[in-house]
Amino acid sequence: MVIAYRPETTAQAVEYLARGDVAIFAGGTDIMVGDKPVCRSFKGEPSAMLFIDAIDELKTLSDNSKTITVGAGLSLTELENDHRVPKLLRDSILQVAAPGVRNCATMGGNVCNASPAADTLPILYLLDTQVVVSSVNGKITFPIEQFIKGPGITQLTSSDLLTQLVIPKTEFSHTFYRKVGTRCANALTKVSIVGAANIQNGLLSDWRVAFGAVGPTVVRDQQIESLLIGKPVAWLKQHHNIQSIIEAYKAKISPLSDQRSTATYRLRTSLKLLEKWLTELSDG
Ligand SMILES: Cc1cc2nc3c(=O)[nH]c(=O)nc-3n(C[C@H](O)[C@H](O)[C@H](O)COP(=O)(O)OP(=O)(O)OC[C@H]3O[C@@H](n4cnc5c(N)ncnc54)[C@H](O)[C@@H]3O)c2cc1C
Repeated sequence: MVIAYRPETTAQAVEYLARGDVAIFAGGTDIMVGDKPVCRSFKGEPSAMLFIDAIDELKTLSDNSKTITVGAGLSLTELENDHRVPKLLRDSILQVAAPGVRNCATMGGNVCNASPAADTLPILYLLDTQVVVSSVNGKITFPIEQFIKGPGITQLTSSDLLTQLVIPKTEFSHTFYRKVGTRCANALTKVSIVGAANIQNGLLSDWRVAFGAVGPTVVRDQQIESLLIGKPVAWLKQHHNIQSIIEAYKAKISPLSDQRSTATYRLRTSLKLLEKWLTELSDG
């Protein structure tokens, strides 16, 4: 017999989680897939399942002039239809699975599952998202790149609940997003890339890029980004300058071969897409 808890508040949920061997079930679209562990945050069989779908606090979305706060329990469908959600994030959500899965799948589940191929993660990295985790001891906030520690591994302990994502509001004059999969729907990512930039008075005042499915976690490198920030857009017209950026990322990208793609294909495709993003940008 499986014990099931279905709390209506975050406070009740973290009380249950404090017992230490209770597995969280959000939309269930990862948990229900046979070869996945029931719970990412502890080893072994749980004594109970914690269904978090009745917690209204996890389904709120709010914003102010600086940030947008997304409840972990919001479904991907709810987010794709809310125009307060950054467009890049909505674009990535539209690439997840198909509508039936997105109706159940939650934002928190996509993050906590911590798959290298999770489609929202590159965008959350690019936007400098903060992850809010609650337990009976209070709240802790992590930058997303610290929250995700490896494939399927996060900072979550068995008593933690991811409650919110706080995403800074940033305007970009230029963006770029591509997901490469076997087909348009219900295909997990072979490679993805997201880029964003601001061009002011002919200078790159902001430039960012993040890659999905090319390593154990999303690849974003702010040191390489800083090499471009402040440069004139015309600098990108020189082919060797674009090549030097590509070479810098080549050293950072270390994909695996798996059932979806080969390491060689992933490396080549991600760098070709980077070249396309830089070339598009050089045209202003
Ligand atoms: C057919 C199919 C196609 C798919 N295609 C894609 C795709 O194209 N792109 C993609 O990115 N994903 C895809 N997925 C994976 C999945 O749909 C997403 O990762 C989804 O966002 C998971 O959310 P969920 O609410 O269903 O998570 P669940 O399955 O409920 O949970 C996933 C994990 O996160 C933990 N968890 C969930 N919420 C919390 C929380 N608030 N706090 C702490 N821990 C929590 C759970 O305990 C579990 O370990 C696909 C899945 C299926 C079945």
